[in-house]
Amino acid sequence: MIYQGTNLSVDFIEPGIAEILFNAPGSVNKFDEKTLNEFSDALDALASNSDLKGVLVRSGKPTFIVGADITEFLTLFSDLEKTKVWVHKASRVFDKLEDLPVPSIAAVNGFALGGGCEAILACDYRVADETAVIGLPEVKLGLIPGFGGTVRLPRVIGPDNALEAIASGANHKPEKALALGLVDAVVKSDRLKEGALAMLRDAIAGDLNWKEKRQPKLEPLKANDTEKLMTFSTAKGFVWAKAGKHYPAPHAAVEVVERGAGEAREQALNIENELFVKLTQTDAARAQVGIFLADQVVKGKSKKVSKAATKDIKRAGVLGAGIMGGGIAYQSAVKGVPVVMKDIRREALDLGLAEASKILGKGLERGKIDQKAVAKTLTSITPTLNNSELADVDIIVEAVVENPKIKGSVLAEVEKVVAKDAIITSNTSTISIDTLAENLQDPSRFCGMHFFNPVHKMPLVEIIRGKHTSDETIAAVTAYAMRMGKTPIVVNDCPGFLVNRVLFPYFAGFSKLLDDGIDFPAIDKVMEKEFGWPMGPAYLCDVVGLDTADHATHVMAAGFPSRMARDENGAIAQLAKNERYGQKNGKGFYEYTVDKKGRPKKVVNPDVYGIIGKKEASAEKDEIIARCMIPMVNEMIRCLEEGIVDSAEEADIALIYGLGFPPFRGGAFRYLETVGLKKFIELADKFADLGEMYQVTDGLRKKAANGESYFK
Ligand code: NAD
Repeated sequence: MIYQGTNLSVDFIEPGIAEILFNAPGSVNKFDEKTLNEFSDALDALASNSDLKGVLVRSGKPTFIVGADITEFLTLFSDLEKTKVWVHKASRVFDKLEDLPVPSIAAVNGFALGGGCEAILACDYRVADETAVIGLPEVKLGLIPGFGGTVRLPRVIGPDNALEAIASGANHKPEKALALGLVDAVVKSDRLKEGALAMLRDAIAGDLNWKEKRQPKLEPLKANDTEKLMTFSTAKGFVWAKAGKHYPAPHAAVEVVERGAGEAREQALNIENELFVKLTQTDAARAQVGIFLADQVVKGKSKKVSKAATKDIKRAGVLGAGIMGGGIAYQSAVKGVPVVMKDIRREALDLGLAEASKILGKGLERGKIDQKAVAKTLTSITPTLNNSELADVDIIVEAVVENPKIKGSVLAEVEKVVAKDAIITSNTSTISIDTLAENLQDPSRFCGMHFFNPVHKMPLVEIIRGKHTSDETIAAVTAYAMRMGKTPIVVNDCPGFLVNRVLFPYFAGFSKLLDDGIDFPAIDKVMEKEFGWPMGPAYLCDVVGLDTADHATHVMAAGFPSRMARDENGAIAQLAKNERYGQKNGKGFYEYTVDKKGRPKKVVNPDVYGIIGKKEASAEKDEIIARCMIPMVNEMIRCLEEGIVDSAEEADIALIYGLGFPPFRGGAFRYLETVGLKKFIELADKFADLGEMYQVTDGLRKKAANGESYFK
């Protein structure tokens, strides 16, 4: 044995050939601090071994190395000096692998991401099997590769392809990796070790010139000035178009490769170290790493909750084949749970099926799904006009019109048809789960299952626990949501549940700006371009539907009369009254047409001001942001304090996955902490006379005074 650590070992597997085997306890290999230290010691031991002729790098697990240990990041990044030392030291460990006096090869199975990809780049050769997924996803965390990836990848696959890979953070499957030259061969899984060894033996024998292959990675990039100019100006254009101004990491990815292009390895690595450290100090990196960690918390919790499920959902029933019912039926079927879709109108069933075919058709066009899967999905949706067809389903998702009386009778009827242990859920967006539960004989098997529109795209499902809902019901519905490929978050019942409860105060903040004469396109522009929402509040109202939004304001006002009282003269109520329902009938705040290419296009028709009044005042962007966002953040704090949601992590993920909260801001709580609790309070206090929704809670004041964080 040349080296034995906890997470990896090194030994000769045949004369002259040593194998570095990553095999950490637990399910995956990652480059945490311990592994990096062991890797460094193992490479020192190898470098001084005089019998060494070649090195194979391999994983003893179903996957290679998933990357750095992201759980260590936020603590590490809070100490600038420590971060500088860490990244300098860690990146030089990979040089040790590259500088071994003998040829090296990586045998790649499963994920080789981030540091895993950087480790294989430090080898002379790379062989992958069919399971390999290779990439540098660091930009998705607001960072760039920090272990030499920005230096080696451009020198291995060329700067154009490397810039695209690093700036997009895309993963590469084996065929793509081979086409790019990221790997030298792809073999069947059972031939991986043998295939890699065969190549290594050829290199040792001199049949492959490993020194010549290694040399470019040690030198400046081979490209003339004109080529470089073309490459970097194209990359800058691509990044600006894709990432815009809020995400510094993809821009830094281009800068690091450009600045390092004329340098040999050591200086190019210094530049990478410098820019990596700079990014660790940005709000975007903290927010994006925060999302990653929050997502892990949410997924871990769902896994635990769903394990307690005693009921396996093999067949589902969806009531209502409208926008939502059709989407839910499609999503269940495509993920392998057959579904009976019931409506009272034949046309609705036809439309629901047509919508499913349309989504499948798009998937087929993009090569995401094959003809067989399309047919299988469509045949596993059974349309019906009869309740009796629902007799053998394990779960019901009710998605009929948002009317408590209709929902009540639909739920009572269906309970008589399904088995005693079948679960019943409602996709209502506003009606209290406890109120709906009153229609059922057994409310313990009932809860909310709130999907977001469009169902096949939005990852969130809010699962709403009523006061009678049993733990078994929550467990089974959580498992079903996960099976559907969604991220479930369990919340307690209240008007609007979690996401809509915080969305409506945001709309109310927007309405108050309108009342003060600020124009809606100006507000949308600030909330989209400056804050980063995918849609500003006026546009979002149009997408949600102004009739729906108006209806919801009644529910919110009834639930929280002092904070969310209805504004009968407000723009939302007035537009709904004038039958400007938004995108659904082509007229809301905006009017909707199609452009020359058939894409939806929104325009402002001055007629709208006849309904919502003239808007001739203006406001600074910071005021617009504050007046829209403070009510949302305050309401989210109330939801946490009242136990509607369990943690800041779940709250942030709910907003990102349910509403498209800008990821570089990381959710309402991350945004609050980025602004700073004390600063946020100062700002909110300035607007306190606008109403209760601007007034911060005592809990927030206490946290700020104690210097506490909302994150555990
Ligand atoms: P929709 O009007 O598009 O569809 C409702 C469907 O229910 C219609 O096809 C109608 O024929 C059918 N229906 C009416 N009575 C029925 C009955 N007794 N039995 C069976 N079907 C019946 O509405 P939608 O937008 O799909 O909304 C459905 C539910 O989902 C509502 O509770 C809504 O609040 C909720 N929701 C909607 C959205 C959204 O963005 N549209 C988002 C989340 C939740």
